[in-house]
Amino acid sequence: MILRLTRWQLTCLENEARKTSPVEACALLFGELAKNEATVERIVTTPNIIKSVTRFEIDSKAFYDAFMTADRDGLAFLGFFHSHPAPAMPSSVDLAFMRLWGEAVWIIFSLTENKLAAFKMRKGKACAVTLKIEGKD
Ligand SMILES: [Zn+2]
Repeated sequence: MILRLTRWQLTCLENEARKTSPVEACALLFGELAKNEATVERIVTTPNIIKSVTRFEIDSKAFYDAFMTADRDGLAFLGFFHSHPAPAMPSSVDLAFMRLWGEAVWIIFSLTENKLAAFKMRKGKACAVTLKIEGKD
């Protein structure tokens, strides 16, 4: 699977991760979803209400509002973004939620590696998603 992001969106995600550090940053991703290809069109950053350095929990009101607004605007839910003070690999907690969320793409930004990676569950395993970063804003 391919996930398309603009360079500007990538910068937004990295900035959010640095801003909330050491607490994990989190955001919701919405956009266009086609077969094996997704294009991010909206990033909604959300507070990590448990203020944890190893986990995140999205504020339920922010979550609800983001979904309602996306639906109104005809955007599909694509997945989640969160940051790690560790390598850009899903944790065991991430894997449990990835199984629950089925089709969602999980973008992880590692503050220690300064690296972004994306994953998606496939047949019970976390598989890498190819990130295509486009130059335009
Ligand atoms: Zn994680």
